[in-house]
Amino acid sequence: MGSGQKSGIETRITKQIRAQGAVTVADFMRLALSARELGYYSSRDPLGAAGDFTTAPEISQMFGEMIGLWCVDTWQRLGAPQEINLVELGPGRGSLMADALRAAKLAPDFLAAIRLHLVEISLPLRERQAANLQAFHPQWHDSIETLPAGPMLVVANEFFDALPIHQFIMTESGWRERGVTLGDDDRFAWTLLPPGPQLALLPAALRAASPGAISPGAISLGAVAECSPASQRILGILAQHCLRAAGAALFIDYGPAASGFGDTFQALKAHRYHDPLQNVGDADLTAHVDLPYLARLAQEAGCGSFGPASQGDFLRALGIETRAAMLSRNQDHVTQEEIQTALHRLIDAAQMGTLFKVVAITSPGITELAGFA
Ligand code: SAH
Repeated sequence: MGSGQKSGIETRITKQIRAQGAVTVADFMRLALSARELGYYSSRDPLGAAGDFTTAPEISQMFGEMIGLWCVDTWQRLGAPQEINLVELGPGRGSLMADALRAAKLAPDFLAAIRLHLVEISLPLRERQAANLQAFHPQWHDSIETLPAGPMLVVANEFFDALPIHQFIMTESGWRERGVTLGDDDRFAWTLLPPGPQLALLPAALRAASPGAISPGAISLGAVAECSPASQRILGILAQHCLRAAGAALFIDYGPAASGFGDTFQALKAHRYHDPLQNVGDADLTAHVDLPYLARLAQEAGCGSFGPASQGDFLRALGIETRAAMLSRNQDHVTQEEIQTALHRLIDAAQMGTLFKVVAITSPGITELAGFA
């Protein structure tokens, strides 16, 4: 917006605000990212150096390989079912799954058992996935609703961070939901929505908090709380799968080790932070993922849960350092350096190693999983 013409999705959101009033942050995010044809993900491949952001599987093949080993090990712990749906949520270019299935060649029985399902809304990314994974005859889904019943292994890397969040701000009269409206010059602008039933979306412990600095449970004015009903709904469906048949799901995303407060809504364009209300549809919008809360919901539903572990600890426990040493053997100096650089990006605390967390949920009765101490 601003100086130039509005994009297709900006025009669409502007019309909606004129007709119905301010939208929630969740509606804004959902439209900007996934509106049919116009949304950010619906219309492009955003990954890689020429795109807006890079993910772990695009940094190194080692990431997907470790996940492949995790899948084989977890399949065995689930009783090695003869048929199992291997599902990836938001597979990007398909690199993670291609690396995982190459590493899984050491377990031919596992490869014979899997049926590959990919949940993906982006048509350009589906094409890349098809090119990378055609040997495994994947079946695509628009949403997790259409996944078949039966034993299931699920992998999701940087998937939940693209799902819509609601934001609430503590005011003198308590929590108020944040929204997006039209301000001067027709630009998108932040606003507070009238109080309404949507407050029920906040976890009860948060809802009860009040402004001020003295009483217990008090939260300072301006504090921000976030929640993602879309993520919670998907977690609930996966938990039901794990209760009805042998199953496990592995989630990797950036976010806190314990649930808390904070405004984590952000935009990324060409690898830089960006104003989320500018260039809508042409920048990625994301928010931190409260994996500890999702793990707790799975437990409350009766599932097992593991983690959060840091990505660094998880990958080290699966043997990524040994794998890096193997890949480096007999390579020239430049290649060896590249492998070391990629390894450190994935596991070092100052890079992705600590910010990214790993959580798994399982059918009841699973007591250990690879990668979790
Ligand atoms: N997992 C990949 C890609 C992460 S980017 C990687 O690690 O490289 C987020 C992915 O989720 C993209 O493939 C995007 O198209 C997909 N996605 C975003 N919102 C989605 C939704 N609502 N349903 C299904 N897929 C979605």
